[in-house]
Amino acid sequence: MTPDTLLADPAAIRLNYIRPSASAVKLVVKTIASQVECPRCRRSTSRMHSRYLRLVADLPWHGVAVKLELHTRRFLCLNSLCIQRIFCERLPTVVARYARKTVSLNAALELIGFAVGGEAGSRLARELGLIVSPDTLLRRLREASEISSTTTRIIGVDDFAFRRGRRYGSLLVDLERHRPVDLLPDRESATLGAWLRAHPGIEVVTRDRSKTYARGISQGAPSAVQVADRWHLLKNLRDALEQLLKRVLSSKGRGTRGAVHPPEESIHALSEYTEQSRIRLLPHLLRLDSGGKRAPPLRPPPPREAAWMLLQSDRLKDEERLVLERLCYLFPDLKAAQELALDFAQMVRHRAADLLPGWLRSATQSKLKEFVGFARGLSEDYEAVRNALKYEWSNGQLEGQVNRLKLIKRQMYGRAKFDLLRARVLHSLK
Ligand SMILES: [Zn+2]
Repeated sequence: MTPDTLLADPAAIRLNYIRPSASAVKLVVKTIASQVECPRCRRSTSRMHSRYLRLVADLPWHGVAVKLELHTRRFLCLNSLCIQRIFCERLPTVVARYARKTVSLNAALELIGFAVGGEAGSRLARELGLIVSPDTLLRRLREASEISSTTTRIIGVDDFAFRRGRRYGSLLVDLERHRPVDLLPDRESATLGAWLRAHPGIEVVTRDRSKTYARGISQGAPSAVQVADRWHLLKNLRDALEQLLKRVLSSKGRGTRGAVHPPEESIHALSEYTEQSRIRLLPHLLRLDSGGKRAPPLRPPPPREAAWMLLQSDRLKDEERLVLERLCYLFPDLKAAQELALDFAQMVRHRAADLLPGWLRSATQSKLKEFVGFARGLSEDYEAVRNALKYEWSNGQLEGQVNRLKLIKRQMYGRAKFDLLRARVLHSLK
């Protein structure tokens, strides 16, 4: 091992000697480039003006502090047109201008800070022989989080809660690179719009179904393609189905409607019952006779569960399938709703944008008010919904990124200021 391998950049500095003391190890090093570039005009020069000394902290050895006694130089710029007469040589790979810590030491502190935060980071650093105050650590994190998003084209936006449902922020993720690009302090249209204006070049934005984000994107990036998130579309579908089940399966405040005409093999003269009494009699009506043996009564599932069952009818157990069949038989609206729902889910999964207008027509004509409402909402957001059935982009990866954010937020024990949370979320550990 040559002593130079101890140094950050052997091409820029050379180790003269090592001077250990009781509390620290001092490396006496000097700069070695014979020619340097003027920072203003970029012309090379070898005319030295003077020498000077810098003392900077470096990574510790076995918990012992290491200091670099850096012998460096000032040079003269020989370009007569340049206004810079004298300048200090730059050592970007070793230590930044005016910095009191080396690049490697700062990188280590950033990693610690981003991983565990300011207060805990300062304690952990001390254990490792790195002395840094919590404030300094926090300042480093803020400085390190300046983003460069000039090459980002396709982003997804979603909201997250700062504090259990009381205040929300927005997370923006680069969908091509699978990494967060920014954190916004709220979920207002104006904030998203301003961000997009400040970051031109965004071509595609995926988002939930909220009008707020839609408006923000239209304001800030009018030419960007908006894509409604497919997961949210399916969630809206499930919600519509659940609302319908609640209405149909609850007798509260309901009047009578035209009786249904059951098929031949009816177990009861069902048409004599009003829908209300059918609901009351549901447990009995769901009792199935099988082979002369009286089966235990089947209870109707709660609306949310029933909505799932209607959408997953090919993956149900026999008993669940029987309940569903019976429910659909008793309440023909359910059968109609299930068909619409399955068609919609199919259309989303297979990205069959061509089928959207036909589906919207069927839903509107179904007279099922929950589906009429769902279809109206989709029509009002038609372009984005159609794009969801056309493009591959979706908010899928936002869920993982929001979970990562929540984990970071938890590690910060709720004391996180917004900019620090932002710094930690945006920093990706390599
Ligand atoms: Zn110059």
